[in-house]
Amino acid sequence: MSLFSGLEKFGLGSLKNEKIFDNSEKKVEEKPKEEPKTVSVADELPEEKTLVFEKKYVCPVCETSFTSLTVRTGKVHVKEQEIDLHPIFDIMDEIKYDIVACPACGYAALARYFDMITKRQKDAVREKISLNFRPIKHKYEIYTYDDALERYQLALANAVVKDAKASEKAYLCLRYAWLIRQMLRDPVTMSLPHYDEQRQKELKDEEKELLKNALEGFVTAKQSESFPIAGMNTITLDYLLAALYMENEDYTPSLKLIGEILVSRSASNHTKEKARDLKDMIEDKMRA
Ligand SMILES: [Zn+2]
Repeated sequence: MSLFSGLEKFGLGSLKNEKIFDNSEKKVEEKPKEEPKTVSVADELPEEKTLVFEKKYVCPVCETSFTSLTVRTGKVHVKEQEIDLHPIFDIMDEIKYDIVACPACGYAALARYFDMITKRQKDAVREKISLNFRPIKHKYEIYTYDDALERYQLALANAVVKDAKASEKAYLCLRYAWLIRQMLRDPVTMSLPHYDEQRQKELKDEEKELLKNALEGFVTAKQSESFPIAGMNTITLDYLLAALYMENEDYTPSLKLIGEILVSRSASNHTKEKARDLKDMIEDKMRA
């Protein structure tokens, strides 16, 4: 797993052996440092600048005021939803703007969780992130996929350090996986020299690793947390779990959950339809 291998940039190289969930057995591999990035994707996407604005935040850890780019509401729409609920947007990828990161102390989280931090968690962030944190960039016009990757990586490091709830870590891993998936489909980003075949393969592996962690986290959350879990009700979470089991090639628990959704009185027709699509997909995979 190389999910944390870029943290050296922020002065946080010592965190790179952290595990997202304690019972994970994977080790982080050493990787050579990346070259500084010089190509600007921002120049090629002028319209994206008009879709975002600088939203003001106060960091709950160090109390610094800062701004984070946020997508204007009502401008960007979902044009398609993938089997694991990944929304594909029409004119730009909103998921790039998910993370709020304090430029002063390195505290970062999904916007919806940014202010939900306990005193104990603040202390952990100060000790394990802020003390070594080296800011790398302050001013943005848009977030490129490169920027978004860094922000997600920092948020994941924070989630581990502050020992976030299973649902928060799982939701972060899920959205991070979606970011990578969509990034790999972006021809502009993939034409950059640092996304050679090797790097693309690494990113595909990272997406898989993140989906595995998302599954593990949501299974734990379902057993230990109360609903809504990451904004989802029971049926939606069961559907998502079924999709994540499928993506992790664990078909038996997936089919079991699909069976429960199909006979559930509280599942909507739309969810049942998606569950049937998922079942077809699994049956195709099992035949292959
Ligand atoms: Zn801060």
